[in-house]
Amino acid sequence: MNRLPLHLALLLALVLVGCRSPQPQNIKVTPVTRLTPPLSPQEHIFGYSVENRPITYLLLGHGPNTCLIMATIHGNEQAGTPLLLQLIEHLQQPQNAHLLAGRQLVIVPVANPDGVAHNRRFNSRGIDLNRNFPADNRRNTKKFGQSALSEPESTALYQLIDQYHPSRIVTIHQPLNCIDYDGPAQHLAEQMAMQCNLPIKKLGSRPGSLGSYAGNTLNIPIITLEFPRSDDNLSPQQLFQTYSPTLLTFIKYK
Ligand SMILES: [Zn+2]
Repeated sequence: MNRLPLHLALLLALVLVGCRSPQPQNIKVTPVTRLTPPLSPQEHIFGYSVENRPITYLLLGHGPNTCLIMATIHGNEQAGTPLLLQLIEHLQQPQNAHLLAGRQLVIVPVANPDGVAHNRRFNSRGIDLNRNFPADNRRNTKKFGQSALSEPESTALYQLIDQYHPSRIVTIHQPLNCIDYDGPAQHLAEQMAMQCNLPIKKLGSRPGSLGSYAGNTLNIPIITLEFPRSDDNLSPQQLFQTYSPTLLTFIKYK
């Protein structure tokens, strides 16, 4: 991976290594160094993982048109994270200020920091966070959680959506190589598909997924970008070159 600017590297380090104390008594956690780089005015911690890693978002722009852009709710599907850090850098350049005019972006580079730290799909309790939302089609199982929002990471995202009421959402996964959507998002998906090589495929609403919850239960247009596994080999700059047109189409969509 090519070098990231210092402030983005600090953000990523905070997300992956940062730790809150004290630890809960019943969870064994490898000791990690407490890392507290100063947060920029745009960075906010909106929850903590099971292993007490902070979960952060950046808030860029102002206005009633709010987009939620997130990556890596499955911890072994990480290509979206360097892409979003590149996107943040792009949006913060003064010559790109017009992209934020009249709109507000809530960007979550890492939704499942413990999963990323362990390179696992699940959180530290072995729960698939993308099956843990209170969607109409949710099922209580060992892997999906014994109740909706049983996990701190999914609860934090639920509260973030409740706080900001985004008008559309994009969430980045791997490796299915397609654009999927839920809710009233067909036209948006078609516009985004014109800007990249990912074909539109309806994968079907998974029980308790964020797509099912936001798209079908809340009726918010939500796009699931499924990058191919080979994108793990791309540098952050190559990821940005490949996917920034589709992400900017999402951001500028009216
Ligand atoms: Zn996934």
